[in-house]
Amino acid sequence: MSTHRKPADLRTRAIHAGSRLPESSAVPITPAIHAAAVSWFDSADELDAALDGKDFVYTRIRGENPVLLEEAVAALEGAEASAVFGSGMAALRAVFDAQGLAPGDRVVLPADGYGATRALFKRLADQQKVELHPLKLSDPDSVERLVAIRPRLVLAESMTNPLLLVPDLPAIAHAAHAAGAALVVDGTFTSPCLQPTLAQGADYALHSTTKWINGHSDATGGVVSGSHARIDPLRGARVLEGALLGPFEAWLTLRGLRTLPVRMAAHSTHALHVARRLREDGRVARVLYPGLPDHPDHATARKLLHGGYGGMVAFEIGGAGRAESFRFLEALRLCRPAPSLGDVTTLVMHAASASARRLTPEERAAAGIGENLIRVSVGLEDPDDIAEDLLQALQAVARS
Ligand SMILES: *Cc1c(COP(=O)(O)O)cnc(C)c1O
Repeated sequence: MSTHRKPADLRTRAIHAGSRLPESSAVPITPAIHAAAVSWFDSADELDAALDGKDFVYTRIRGENPVLLEEAVAALEGAEASAVFGSGMAALRAVFDAQGLAPGDRVVLPADGYGATRALFKRLADQQKVELHPLKLSDPDSVERLVAIRPRLVLAESMTNPLLLVPDLPAIAHAAHAAGAALVVDGTFTSPCLQPTLAQGADYALHSTTKWINGHSDATGGVVSGSHARIDPLRGARVLEGALLGPFEAWLTLRGLRTLPVRMAAHSTHALHVARRLREDGRVARVLYPGLPDHPDHATARKLLHGGYGGMVAFEIGGAGRAESFRFLEALRLCRPAPSLGDVTTLVMHAASASARRLTPEERAAAGIGENLIRVSVGLEDPDDIAEDLLQALQAVARS
């Protein structure tokens, strides 16, 4: 009897050939991108265990690239575990939902924080009949007010957007815990490298990885870190709700994270230089940089930030309204007028019409965000080139 087997049909060969690598003990310097949404096993018992999340079988349950990114973020945060999400907003929503809030429960959030977060929390609070209490957490009396509110959940931002105010996290954590609340700290502006928010009392350390952690504006993502007890329920909810980070995005974000510590050190040095040069210019009414001694929260920033004051600088153009601020953006030649932060490129934004766009004019006024406020995410170009571009654009506004 012939042992010869009929060669498989071309359609079958096209689908099954080239699907397993030869045995190898090589470890690639850069991890592979695991694009497969589903995997199979020779052993049905292994498949059975994988469906409980013990191995990789279906990426909504557990994906290779997200797991590697989670391991790296947890290592930077000094956390037991991390969970990555498809965006920073998805991460914020997951943390809010995980609290199991009941009607009448109270949530504290920054009065001067990220506008989209405020809008999201408003929506979730309306749906769940929860009370929102915005507080300017960098005000010294906010700790006392927080205690009086008796919240179940407190959200703080490590450095607020766009005024770069720095709340005293250990004091807020103490008050939140005394009231029985969980504290989530959105550390997007400082990154895990400059501020260890878990060590300063946060229960959840959250970041939009779209910003500094990725660093190259080529993938959206979010991450939350903390104890196993805090993070496991977020992962469980993610399996059902599907707020995943895709394999390519996780891979790009991990690639960016490799240089986060050296980037943050350089961004901080460049930002201090740019802030000092802006302060010397008479057309600038006010410069806000936590690394400058005259910043209202310089002392707190000195206590809580390590290895630099971050890459964000804000300033006010003397006498400018919206029209002059827009002309300033259009006069930039090197810096990009783009509404984000954390890139190797310098990104410049008009705060009132971009990050604070979703606030009402009254909320903007209360937060101290005027039409002449410009926010700069200082990049890794030559810091003098960055400063000179900003100064020549100010000159163009003054001339027009
Ligand atoms: C950008 C940002 C977010 C939202 O993150 P996305 O990745 O855009 O969803 C949340 N908080 C802060 C402070 C941010 O800057």
